[in-house]
Formats: sequence, structure tokens, C-alpha cells
Amino acid sequence: MKTAYKFRMYPNKQQEASLGLTLDTCRYLYNLALADRKNAYESEGVSRSYEDQAAMLVAEKKDGNFKAVFSQVLQDVLRRLDKSFKAFFRRVKGGEKPGYPRFKGQGWYKSFTYPQVGFKLDGSKLTLSKIGSIRIFKHREVEGQIKTCTIKKDNLGHWYAILVSEVGDVSPIDPKTAIGVDVGLKSLVALSTGETVEYPRYYVQAENKLAVAQRNLSRKKSGSSNRRKAKARVARISQDVKNHRDEFLHQVSRMLVDSADLIVFENLNISGMLKNHHLAKHIQDHAWGKLIRFTQSKAAKAGKIVELVDARYTSQKCSQCCIIVPKTLADRTHLCPNCGLVMDRDINASLNICTLGLRGRAYQDPTPTLSKRFKAS
Ligand SMILES: [Zn+2]
Repeated sequence: MKTAYKFRMYPNKQQEASLGLTLDTCRYLYNLALADRKNAYESEGVSRSYEDQAAMLVAEKKDGNFKAVFSQVLQDVLRRLDKSFKAFFRRVKGGEKPGYPRFKGQGWYKSFTYPQVGFKLDGSKLTLSKIGSIRIFKHREVEGQIKTCTIKKDNLGHWYAILVSEVGDVSPIDPKTAIGVDVGLKSLVALSTGETVEYPRYYVQAENKLAVAQRNLSRKKSGSSNRRKAKARVARISQDVKNHRDEFLHQVSRMLVDSADLIVFENLNISGMLKNHHLAKHIQDHAWGKLIRFTQSKAAKAGKIVELVDARYTSQKCSQCCIIVPKTLADRTHLCPNCGLVMDRDINASLNICTLGLRGRAYQDPTPTLSKRFKAS
């Protein structure tokens, strides 16, 4: 399984200049190669392949061009162009809107990749061939073998290194403990253990700040310098919100994977629309999808299992006696007139989700089937 690690880089002035130069060179090469494909086709009816263009690049380098950039990084540029052409032809074939590959203007080419070698991670230093040793903020240890290194510049002008590593999956253990996770209406999640996980206060504050900044931006006249400033502020705060949220979701997913062998989520693709028609909830839905992905990747490494179940009716059903107890969104408590169970509605839902996940497993269980059991006795 592949895992991507994203680390902020803190280049010095000279390194930043080299990074910028590399990005510009890659963009230049991309546009050059695109123009070459276009000309070759229009004037001679020839389709250039990746191999053709890679050979042309070798010739260019012999003439002393493109010397400042590591050769595999340049090859990767040609590979990206090749990919976008293949996607273009696929769309044409499929009768979709084709969208011919575009020339990249300043600011539209944002990253370059070392596809195999030419980079080295050593402690909190990342050494890039032809650029230098750059300090990074390594907030997590990288597990497994690093395969690729992509350098990216965001809209705020910050540089990031994205390292993709590969770890062999651990074969799943036979689950002995299970936990059901419900998307809370108030909190991030409610768990079948009876706990809930709330959004941390700083996250809520940052989100409120973002809403204010967005409102502020919408009032500014287009083209004005105030608008530009307001826009930069929105970009800065949204980045902040995203970072906080990811960090928090990493902690929650870690906690889930550590707490049980089988982790059961509701499958939002099935039930999301029904449950969260509240517009303001879309941010929460986004966090929810991310939480599932983070948990899946951590579970794969730990040999644990993540199950997604169709969670329709899980908030209505009684987790103790299974009868349907209708509720509106405003009803915060599950109150069963049949068996007398009283509990938080989201916890009740998470218990039902847990049960659904366990039931799904029983069907898949390859060990003693009913008939075998009968024969044995
Ligand atoms: Zn009941």
C-alpha cells in the first residue's frame, strides 16, 4: 500500500531561487514539448510519443540546455504531458468533451517530481539533486520505502515535499473486537463504546474566522487591492483550517485503529444524502470521508479491517430491540417505547452500525460453515 507524506519545506534564499528556477524550467519544457506535439501533428500528421520526446530532450541536453535540472525530473515532465495526451485521446474516443492539453501560463505549473532517485531524506533534511539540502518540518516518521518525491508550491508561495512510500500490507487478523462509528450531528463522531469525539476548539474558531474572512471578501470590489488582500487572507485561513483538520483526523483515526480489530463506518455514498441535507454540513462530510481514508490506510498497516455499511435507518432503529423509533433531526435522545432504552441518538446509531458490520462479516467468514458444523456434531 502506498502512503503520501506531506512536509513543509523551509528553503533558504538561494534554495528558493533554485526551486523556482526548476519549476520554471519544467513549465518551459512542458510548453515546448506540447508545442512540438502540436506542430508535428499539424504540419506532418505525426503523433509524437513519450520516447520520441525523451530522445529529443537528450539531444537538447547535449547542446547544453536544461543543465540546471535533474534529468529524471525533466523526463517526468514529458511523462506528465504524455499522460494528459493519453487522457485526451481517451475522452475523444469515449465521446466526451475532449479538452486539448493546455499551455501552462505562469503560476499554472505547480510541482515537479523526482520519480525514483535524486533525493534523499536524512532526519529533517531533504537533499534534492541540483538544488541542495533543504530543512523540512517532519511531523511524522516515514514508514516503508520512499518511491517518489514531488516538490510543490502552494498559492501562498510555501514549498512542500510530498513523499510517497510503499509498505507491504499486513494480512488481516481475525477480528475479536469491533467498534461502530457514526457521523455525529454535533460532534465529529459517536462511537459504539459510548464515547463521542468533539471538534477541538481551535478548529471551530479557525472555521469561524474563515467564514468571516469569506464574507469580507465577497463585499470587496473586483480588481481592487483590498480584494486581493482579502483573497490572500481567505487562502491563508483555509490552509490553516485544512492543516488543523488533517492533524486532528490523523489522531482520531489512530485512536480508532488502536481501539478495535474491526472498525465499522457508515457508507456515506449510500446514506449521506439522506442524513445530511443540511448545507452547512458539507464541511463535516468532507472531514468524514477523510477520516475513513485515514483509518483505512492505518488499518491496512496494522492488519485491521475497515467495513463500510449501508447505514439507512440506523438512527431510527433501537439498538437493543431493533424496532423503529421515528425521530426528527431535533430529537437528540433515543427513547424506546418498546424496551425502554434511553441513550444519545448518535451512540444508538453507532451501535447499530457496529452490529451491521459484524453481521456482514459473519456471512464472509470462511471458517466453519453451518453444514460443516452439523457434520462434526
Ligand atoms: Zn428498544
